[in-house]
Amino acid sequence: MTRKTGTAAERVFVGLGANLGDARAALASALDALDSHPAIERVATSSLYRTAPVDATGPDYLNAVVELRTTLGPLDLLKALQAIEADHGRQRPYPNAPRTLDLDLLLFGQREFDDPALTLPHPRLHQRAFVLEPLAQIAPDLMHPRLGRLRDWRERVVDQAIEKLP
Ligand code: AMP
Repeated sequence: MTRKTGTAAERVFVGLGANLGDARAALASALDALDSHPAIERVATSSLYRTAPVDATGPDYLNAVVELRTTLGPLDLLKALQAIEADHGRQRPYPNAPRTLDLDLLLFGQREFDDPALTLPHPRLHQRAFVLEPLAQIAPDLMHPRLGRLRDWRERVVDQAIEKLP
């Protein structure tokens, strides 16, 4: 296979979630959209996880995490993710509303970034079982630039219901 992303070496992680309509189909379609992007290569994909909404209402979520390589910078990658969300009918009627597809940029290497449009690492990733569990599955030794080994944060979110799907 021809590599799409040259020698870009930073490990990039994106979280996917959906809880409206056919969430499984939405996640599969989002993976296809990532794979179709000329500057994005998907190098690892977690299982699907079923989770209860955190700080939100509505049906259970399906979540997953992917590892990417990309030649895009963080803001351009965020734009690409938002375009995929928009293609999947994402609307934001109010904060934390149920969503057909949510894509979060979790980590871009060990970069720290604080901009109104983008915070890196994602500010809540270490508080969410639906991020920490799939991350631990595909990147068990992953480090956060300020919080250390991310798998060690899982014990703090054991109260959050999560089920790994076969
Ligand atoms: P949400 O509606 O929860 O998907 O939040 C999207 C908003 O969060 C957008 O305005 C983004 O610009 C902003 N944002 C800030 N940091 C991030 C990040 N790391 N990943 C995704 N969106 C982010």
